[in-house]
Amino acid sequence: MEKELEQMLQTVCSKGIKEASSEEIYAALLQWSKEKMNGMKHNEGDRKLYYISAEFLVGKLLSNNLINLGVFEEVREVLKKHGHDLTEIEEVELEPSLGNGGLGRLAACFLDSIATLGLNGDGVGLNYHDGLFLQKFSDNKQWEEKNPWITEKSWLTKTDVSFEVPFKDFTLKSTMYDIDVPGYQSGCNKLHLFDLDSVDESIIGNGIQFDKQEIHKNLTLFLYPDDSDEAGQLLRIYQQYFMVSNAAQLILKEAEDRGVNLYHLHEHVCIQINDTHPTMVIPELIRILTEQKGFNIDTAVDVVSKTCAYTNHTILAEALEKWPISYLEKVVPHLMPIIRELDRRVRRDFHDPRVYIIDEMDRVHMAHIDIHFGYAVNGVAALHTEILKESELKPFYDIYPQKFNNKTNGITFRRWLVHCNHNLAEYLKELIGPGYMENAEELEKLLAYQDDENVLAKLKEIKKEAKAELKKYLKMTQNVEIDENSVFDIQIKRLHEYKRQQMNALYAIYKYKEIKKGNLPKRPLTMIFGAKAAPAYTIAKDIIHLILCLQQLIDNDPQVSPYMKIVMVENYNVTKAEKLIPACDISEQISLASKEASGTGNMKFMLNGAVTLGTEDGANVEIHQLVGDDNIYIFGEKSEKIIKLYETGEYCSKDIYENDPMVEELVDFIISKDLIRIGDPVNLGRLYKEIVGKDWFMALLDVKDYIRTKEQMLSDYEDEKAWEKKMLVNIAKAGFFSSDRTIAEYNRDIWHL
Ligand SMILES: *Cc1c(COP(=O)(O)O)cnc(C)c1O
Repeated sequence: MEKELEQMLQTVCSKGIKEASSEEIYAALLQWSKEKMNGMKHNEGDRKLYYISAEFLVGKLLSNNLINLGVFEEVREVLKKHGHDLTEIEEVELEPSLGNGGLGRLAACFLDSIATLGLNGDGVGLNYHDGLFLQKFSDNKQWEEKNPWITEKSWLTKTDVSFEVPFKDFTLKSTMYDIDVPGYQSGCNKLHLFDLDSVDESIIGNGIQFDKQEIHKNLTLFLYPDDSDEAGQLLRIYQQYFMVSNAAQLILKEAEDRGVNLYHLHEHVCIQINDTHPTMVIPELIRILTEQKGFNIDTAVDVVSKTCAYTNHTILAEALEKWPISYLEKVVPHLMPIIRELDRRVRRDFHDPRVYIIDEMDRVHMAHIDIHFGYAVNGVAALHTEILKESELKPFYDIYPQKFNNKTNGITFRRWLVHCNHNLAEYLKELIGPGYMENAEELEKLLAYQDDENVLAKLKEIKKEAKAELKKYLKMTQNVEIDENSVFDIQIKRLHEYKRQQMNALYAIYKYKEIKKGNLPKRPLTMIFGAKAAPAYTIAKDIIHLILCLQQLIDNDPQVSPYMKIVMVENYNVTKAEKLIPACDISEQISLASKEASGTGNMKFMLNGAVTLGTEDGANVEIHQLVGDDNIYIFGEKSEKIIKLYETGEYCSKDIYENDPMVEELVDFIISKDLIRIGDPVNLGRLYKEIVGKDWFMALLDVKDYIRTKEQMLSDYEDEKAWEKKMLVNIAKAGFFSSDRTIAEYNRDIWHL
């Protein structure tokens, strides 16, 4: 390895390892890895999977690729020998801004596991130039800027694959870029990202403003561009169709190149539709097969339906996409006859308006296309799938019980343990052998040590080192000072009312007031938040404002600051997650029961020895079952009760607020003089009104149980041995959440590769 790196550095910059800068070493390692992966075999098989997704939140790729190529340790050592630190080299890489949250991160974990299991499957998506946005804080508010990441030298490789994508008024010619996806000690797959040569970043003005009309210039600028007006919604349809038309053409071309008879497409190809964004691939394939490949409509519908499978990620109404027919007519009128034909077939066979594709308001329900004209529908955690079957998608489950199945999400341990927590990974290897890296269930061997004081102490020490590392990182990146001897309580995830960061903020207010009253905690508490709010989501931004104001209030109060601290991490992304997760003591998973489909952050924390504070929601339910009551802190109302409350509409936050003085005091603090002095009365006032008058995600319903449970947890933390044992059990039981297990199940039940 040393020789190869030296040679590569000679070509890149004519320097030796010692003399080369971080940038030069990064360039050399990038080039070396790309050449290596270029020479690797693609995983083979007669059946090929295409995983289509609007997001792939892959994170920085250098270390992950080095791990999967089997040279990570060696590279680290070589660099160390010459006075370099691989962590510093990694700083050079910009994180690809190709995703937004859990759904995109899941797609990235899946690509890693598909490649690792040797399966023949590629990802297909879009090459966004500026991602979602780069989050900046100023005046205690979130500001959005563009987030460019594509540099001269990157993991992208331009291919000569190109397709014509027809829209109503014009045709655009695509360019396909590839990112290699090496499996861990396995073959190499691809992530195909489609783009336009004519995209023009110079049309971006202030923040993330741009002209939404100039499709040939703006199509792949941003992920989820603002859709609060018609132009924005049309742009999303342009993006979605561009993605799936390219995907459909690529799939058919590759099949024909392999000599597949398209009438047997479903025997050689399967397509996983990740959430509803890629749904138009169904009518697009049917269109191409009938218009260009001589299929009659019955056969085309039949073949495509046997090829496509759909993953549902949420039951929140906002995510079940419905496009007005008039919008589709403006962008992709050639798909409308197909969509109308699909709707006609549904109406012919079923007499239930709830399952029609086109509703009485002339909107097209994308998920309904997927369910009727796909062969499998899966939820992403046991509870989520049950809710789909029993309530959200019940009319469909009654028609197609055999299509529904559960695939509990997972995470790749290569990134979320081996890479992000090197010390822990190495110690586990020492203790239970390296087998767990390929067979995650072997982590259970750890259970044999649950009463071994030396092992427990070592786990605590590794945690302490990670906390010290995070302290350094936050000092360097945000110039904040945290205390590594405090309890690290972390909530990092997209900002959404259902995830209830506002409830956590109410806890901070509670704690602040307790300290003011002289009820001092035994140990200081560090509350860390990280979250981006969608630019048009007003209340989410108000919640960020509240947290940032509380942060400032506490920092400037010498009576309170020795005992508690709030840190809101700027621009939460995969890179930050990798620093935060190993350092966490308390993992905040406090969504309103029934609303978080699965969560994957919860799994990453567990694997790294944090203890969950959570509701019985998403995969928390399965974590609870695995670790048992003693090793998790569960609070709050259960999902059946919540679903009933929504049905009857009887939840009233105002009643709780008016009848419970403690709750009233906490909520009133949002508009107290103390906070208004720091913050913006418009934002704080609006949030106060929202919580008292609506509280759609029922923070006040659970807030007292939440506070009680968190206090119990902090008190239990002081029993060191008992806490260390909880850490150990959590790590030991995390094997189930390896995405290798999830992918093996997808393959067994859906893909059959
Ligand atoms: C894992 C991950 C998520 C998903 O977190 P949840 O807590 O499951 O919502 C979101 N963003 C990033 C950067 C992640 O790594």
